[in-house]
Amino acid sequence: MNRPYNFSAGPAAIPAEVLETAAAEMLDWHGSGMGVMEMSHRGKEFIAIYEQAEADLRELLAVPAHFKILFMQGGGLAENAIVPLNLSRAATVDVVVTGSWSQKSQKEARKYASEVRVVASGEGSHFTTLPDPSTWQLSRGASYVHLCSNETIHGVEFHELPDLQALGSDAPLVIDFSSHVASRPVDWSRVGLAFGGAQKNLGPAGLTLVIVREDLLGHALPACPSAFDYKVVADNQSMFNTPPTWGIYMAGLTFQWLKRQKEGDATGIAAMERRNIAKAQLLYSYIDQSQLYLNKVAPNARSRMNIPFFLRDESRNDAFLAGAKERGLLQLKGHKSVGGMRASLYNAMPLAGVEALVSYMREFEQHQA
Ligand SMILES: *Cc1c(COP(=O)(O)O)cnc(C)c1O
Repeated sequence: MNRPYNFSAGPAAIPAEVLETAAAEMLDWHGSGMGVMEMSHRGKEFIAIYEQAEADLRELLAVPAHFKILFMQGGGLAENAIVPLNLSRAATVDVVVTGSWSQKSQKEARKYASEVRVVASGEGSHFTTLPDPSTWQLSRGASYVHLCSNETIHGVEFHELPDLQALGSDAPLVIDFSSHVASRPVDWSRVGLAFGGAQKNLGPAGLTLVIVREDLLGHALPACPSAFDYKVVADNQSMFNTPPTWGIYMAGLTFQWLKRQKEGDATGIAAMERRNIAKAQLLYSYIDQSQLYLNKVAPNARSRMNIPFFLRDESRNDAFLAGAKERGLLQLKGHKSVGGMRASLYNAMPLAGVEALVSYMREFEQHQA
């Protein structure tokens, strides 16, 4: 089946092989007589699905043994509250603001933390650059430092996580990696907690992934709901309450798909990273030499996953989108706060999809000249 290329920022494309497996197993998972959505989360069938998914993710992302993997609900936005409820310990929270998502994080944290400080901001450049870590005004004794490692709307990405200790802070780094999880390796030596919704790069909406260092568990504020207390969730293998079983199953199929991926001598996440670099380079280099299209992000801060771009003649926007749709290039309209276009090149987007996009962009540019 020849499907269109889907550039949605999220919920986003899922690998066709994953959807095909899910379709084939919909009515009867592995001879159990039940579909996954119909199973008890405490039965041996679902426990097997859950344990496999967790083990595959731990292997793929090389998550060290002293980190817990939690499968939760509420999405990235709920984590903006759940993180301070668990980690703020009535101390200052430091936030690096690099776009819409970290802006939301710092606002939400103010409801729960005694003090929230914006220690660096990219607002002066309209979020087209990333503030250099050497300039961050980190607080003494902060409970944690929040960073959005890939800003989905503005299209800026940290290609290296900051080493907070080298910057003079003992605080754990919290990253919102919703929109680039599994697109590249994670340097866990620099991370205390990572969270992300699944609907960008791991599967359907409804599942939230939290990976947290064990020493950060058990410090929740008294008001923290039990179902959102990381220690309670961890002590119950993410089954304190009913987990998002379908989301875990779909993410598990995606993890197996990721493990099968190869690029040259690289496999798994390393293979995805190579492919993602090639995809992003192809699109950025076309945009940069074009007379019609424009990407405003500083080259060292450009996201591999989310590429906002503009037509210098904005009156052509609707024609561009209509022509794209005709050619099977879907969901390219930019976020309403930024305008223009946005191509999200998550793991499920093959290089051929980016080639098809660039070839359409070239045709559209030539046609209008
Ligand atoms: C999509 C996204 C979110 C929001 O996730 P929800 O599941 O809608 O709560 C948060 N942070 C980032 C970086 C995102 O891309």
